[in-house]
Amino acid sequence: MFLLSASALTTSCTSTKEGEADFQYTDERFADLQMLRYRVEGFEELTLRQKTLIYYLSQAALSGRDILWDQNGRYNLRIRQMLETVYTDFDGDRTGADFQALSVYLKRVWFSNGIHHHYGCDKFVPAFSEDFFRKALHAVDPGKLPLAEGQSVDALCDEIFPIIFDPSVMPKRTNQADGQDLVVTSAANYYGQGVTQEEAERFYLAMKEADPDPEHPIMFGMNSRLVKENGQLQEKVWRSGGLYGPAIDRIIFWLEKAKTVAESDKQAAVIDKLIEFYRTGDLRTFDAYSILWVEDTEGDVDFTNGFTESYGDPLGMKASWEGYANFKDREATERTKKLSANAQWFEDHSPVDARFKKENCRGITAKVIVAAILGGDLYPSTAIGINLPNSNWVRAEHGSKSVTIGNLTDAYNKAAHGNGFQEEFVIDEATRDLINKYGDECDDLHTDLHECLGHGSGKLLPGVDADSLKAYGSAIEEARADLFGLYYVADAKLTELGLTPNDDAYKSQYYTYMMNGLMTQLVRIEPGASIEEAHMRNRAMIAHWVLDHAAPADGGKPAVELVKRDGKTYVQINDYPALRTLFGQLLAEVQRVKSEGDFEGARQLIETYGVRVDPELHREVLARYKALDLAPYKGFINPEYVVTEDEQGNITDVQVRYGEAYDHQMLRYSREYKTLPYINE
Ligand code: ZN
Repeated sequence: MFLLSASALTTSCTSTKEGEADFQYTDERFADLQMLRYRVEGFEELTLRQKTLIYYLSQAALSGRDILWDQNGRYNLRIRQMLETVYTDFDGDRTGADFQALSVYLKRVWFSNGIHHHYGCDKFVPAFSEDFFRKALHAVDPGKLPLAEGQSVDALCDEIFPIIFDPSVMPKRTNQADGQDLVVTSAANYYGQGVTQEEAERFYLAMKEADPDPEHPIMFGMNSRLVKENGQLQEKVWRSGGLYGPAIDRIIFWLEKAKTVAESDKQAAVIDKLIEFYRTGDLRTFDAYSILWVEDTEGDVDFTNGFTESYGDPLGMKASWEGYANFKDREATERTKKLSANAQWFEDHSPVDARFKKENCRGITAKVIVAAILGGDLYPSTAIGINLPNSNWVRAEHGSKSVTIGNLTDAYNKAAHGNGFQEEFVIDEATRDLINKYGDECDDLHTDLHECLGHGSGKLLPGVDADSLKAYGSAIEEARADLFGLYYVADAKLTELGLTPNDDAYKSQYYTYMMNGLMTQLVRIEPGASIEEAHMRNRAMIAHWVLDHAAPADGGKPAVELVKRDGKTYVQINDYPALRTLFGQLLAEVQRVKSEGDFEGARQLIETYGVRVDPELHREVLARYKALDLAPYKGFINPEYVVTEDEQGNITDVQVRYGEAYDHQMLRYSREYKTLPYINE
C-alpha cells in the first residue's frame, strides 16, 4: 500500500540546506503536470559497496519499465514507439501546432506509462490530427516502427488510430463505476479479451476455496494475466520463460549482481529468494521472499522490485510492476522509531472496538528513507510513503515495513513554496500562520502514522476473506490508515514523545485535510466526472462524513462547516477537539467494516461520501485554481548514476548526476531498457 502526496497543498518555508542553492527542484511543465527533481541527499557519504549496490538495484528498477507499460494497456508499447519515432525523426515543421501537440501528448503518455491519465484513468484526447500523424509515420524509417510481420504503415495506422483517437475505444484504464462489468470496461491488460468480471471472480473464488492452507492464503492472481483460450480460463504467469520473461530476465541479471555486494548474508538471501520467485512465478515463494524481506531491517540500503500494488486492477488482485532503491535517513528515522516502539500503546488506546484490535502489534518497522531511483509504477508519479508487503497474513504474523520518503516530500515542499495556493484557499491569516509553522512537520507525522501504525493496526475477524470489500477495499484500507493518523496526530502522546512541538500543531493537519477532502482535491477531477482513485475517495469520504456529522445534538455550532466569503467557499473549523472525536468515531466504524468484511457497509460509506462531486463547488474550485496557474500533478525526473570501472571491470566509483532533461531521460529509457516485444500475448 502506498500514500500519495496529498498534493502540493502546503506552501512551506523549509530552511535551505547547504550547497543546494543552485539545485533546481522544478523543471518543465505541460498539460496538468509539473516535473520536479529530487536530491539523493547523503549518497556521497555511503561506502563504495553501498553505492555499487544502489547502482545495481537502480538498474533492476529501471529494467521492468516495459512490463508496466504493457500492463497499463495492450497497445501502449506500440503507441510509444510510434510517437517516439515521430518525435525524434520528424523533419517537417517542428514548430507547427500538430507537432507541438504531439510532443505534449507524448510527454503525457510517458508520464502515465500509457495512454490513460495516471490518476484519473481517462484516455487522453490528442490535439493533433490523424492525418498529420499518418503522414508523419509515412515519412519516417519504417524499420523503426512497430510493424507486425508483413504489416504496412497504413495497416498499422488503421489498427492503432482508433485506440488513440476514438474516445469510445478503451476510454478508461481502470473502471470503478458501480454496477458495470469492471473487467470488460477496463483497458488495463490484466484480463484477456472476452473475460468477464463474473468469470474472473468465479475463477479466483474456486482457487481460494481449493486452497490447502486457507490460514496463509497466497496472493491469488497477483502475477498473471487471466485469459480465455478455447473457452477455458487460464493464467499466463509473469515469470522468466513466461509472459514478460525477457524483462524479468534482465531484472534477474541485475539482481544477481546486486547479490554480490549485498550489505549482509541476510540481504543476499532476500535477493536470492526474489530471483527464485521471478524464475518460478510461484506465489508461495513470493510469500517466503516477503517474509525474508520484512525481517531484514538492519542494513542501510533497501529496495522494492516486483509486482506490488493492485490499484490498477479493477478487482484489486493483479499487481502492477514497480521498483525503487533507497537508503536510510538515520536522523529522521529516529522519529518513526518512536512511533513503532509504541505501536501497542497506540493500538490499545485507539477508539476501535476491542474485538478488532491486535493483541500483539509486532514487527512494525518504520523508517525515513532517501529514494535513489524510481521505476515502474513509482515513476515519474510516485508515492511518498509505502507500507509493504500487502499480504494480510504475512503482515499479521511477520509485520510490515513502512517508509516515508523524506527527499521526495522535501522536494514537493520546496516546489510548492510561495505558489499562492494557501492565500487562495485557506480561510484566514491565523490559519495560514498555523499551517506555515506546523504544516510540513505535521504532514510528515501524519504520513508516518498512516504508514507505520495505520496500515499495521487492527485485525480481521476469524474467517473473514481479506478481499470481501472488493472494489471498495483499497479506499477503505486507506481511510483506516488516514483516520488512525488523524486521530493520533492530535494526541498528547505525540507531544510527550517529542514528535509535535505543542498541543496546537495538529490543527494545521486537520485544516489542510478537511480543505483537501472537501474542496481542493477536486482540482484533479474533470468537470462532470466523479471521484474514482482510492486515495481520493478515501479523503472525500472522511471529509464529507465528518462534515455531515459535524452538527452537535444540542443545536450549537458545527465542528466544521463550509462558509461563503465574498462569493468564495472556505472550510471553517469551529471546534478542533470535536473534529478529533468525529475522526475517532469514523475510525471505529471503518475498522468494523474492514474487520467484519462488511461489503454493504463499505459500499454505503464510499458511495455516499466518497464518489460524488457537487458540481457548483467543483466549478468554483477549478476556476480559483486555474487563476493560480499551477499544475495539479507532479512527477520526478530521476538522477543518473555514472560508474567508473578499472581495467578488470570492477566498479571503483559511482557518482550521482542531475540535470537530464525529461524527454532525454524518457527516450534514453526507451532505448536502454527496452526489454519486451511490442506485442506480448
Ligand atoms: Zn496507505
